[in-house]
Amino acid sequence: MNVLINAGPWLEVPPPGYGGIENVVATLVPALRERGVRVILASVGASDLEVDELLSVYDTGQFGDLQKPYNQVMGIAHAHQARLVEELRRRDDVDLVHDHLEVVGPAVLSAFDGPPVLHTLHWDLRKHPAFYGSFPQSIAVNGVSESQLRRAPEALRDAALGAVHLATPLAGRDVRAERGEHFVVMGRVCRLKGQHVAARVCQKLGLPLVLAGPVSGLGTQADLETVTQDPYHPLHGHPDVRYHADVVAPYLDGDMVRWIGAVGGQERDDLYASARAALFPIQWDEPGGTAVVEALALGVPPVGLRRGCLPEIVEHGRTGLLADTEEELAEWLLRVDEIDPEECRREARRRFSPSVMAERYLELYERTISRSRSRRGSA
Ligand code: UDP
Repeated sequence: MNVLINAGPWLEVPPPGYGGIENVVATLVPALRERGVRVILASVGASDLEVDELLSVYDTGQFGDLQKPYNQVMGIAHAHQARLVEELRRRDDVDLVHDHLEVVGPAVLSAFDGPPVLHTLHWDLRKHPAFYGSFPQSIAVNGVSESQLRRAPEALRDAALGAVHLATPLAGRDVRAERGEHFVVMGRVCRLKGQHVAARVCQKLGLPLVLAGPVSGLGTQADLETVTQDPYHPLHGHPDVRYHADVVAPYLDGDMVRWIGAVGGQERDDLYASARAALFPIQWDEPGGTAVVEALALGVPPVGLRRGCLPEIVEHGRTGLLADTEEELAEWLLRVDEIDPEECRREARRRFSPSVMAERYLELYERTISRSRSRRGSA
């Protein structure tokens, strides 16, 4: 089977640091190729994931521009997607397109009579009500958690082929015998991820906290300062930049509560694997939770608020701790050593491994292809 996987133009695959969708694609592709699938990856030129063919418009990831005003950057996703359609027009050996590009992916592909398309919905499905409320029927979709699909507009929820949980590689990642004292929030710095709640709770309890992740695409203190010091920079008043400056920064003391910017590769794994727990004080219904699954794979207990996909991924008391309130979250932070790291790891192997995800997607690819055949047959 020849599958064109569209990871979009935002970041390399695998991403150098932050990158939810790109990490998922980097996990899925090797497992599909092991199962005999030929993969054509649409991404950016700098992607170095091993694939059969790489398709790109941009040499490097365009993530830095993603937060700029729409009228300045709308051409990026469209240029990428137009190239992908051009490629599909040029050849007839692609059996299926597995698309991961938000809105532009399905909008453009639905207007082209090409191979069957499966589009994975990685996002909060209340986000684009007009689009998701009348989603193009020629495109098959899947979600990344049951809770995400439950919140989708009815028509989209009914059309979805199901939810496929996210996964992360287990090989080369072990449960560390020696752990540090620090707690970690690994994710974009923004109100939805709740870094301020983690900081407030850890500060109150006197526990060390490390916040890792970009602020509106900015991965270092220096990059952030360039933006905050230039009132005319397009990101100057961005809500995430304001959130960092006004809500998170007051907790940062360079010692007990630290923001270290975006981290990647081995540095990320070392920081994460040596943590006492991974915190998810989420202020929204997190749709997929790559960072939650990664914590389990490293044997680091996830501790978070009971919202979105968290109760689906974490079993309270066995593979992590879930709270309904900030006060309860504080209680669980003091009891986190009751969770067995090996149990977290076993759960990751059983439910969130690359093989489990690849088998599920192969099943959905078959269903997408037969759905497309029967739609064509009845047209
Ligand atoms: N991440 C990273 N470095 C950072 C912060 C995050 O590599 O400094 C990764 C994290 O490990 C996860 C992804 O970025 O793989 C975040 O994905 P998640 O689904 O948690 O968040 P979202 O996609 O909503 O931003």
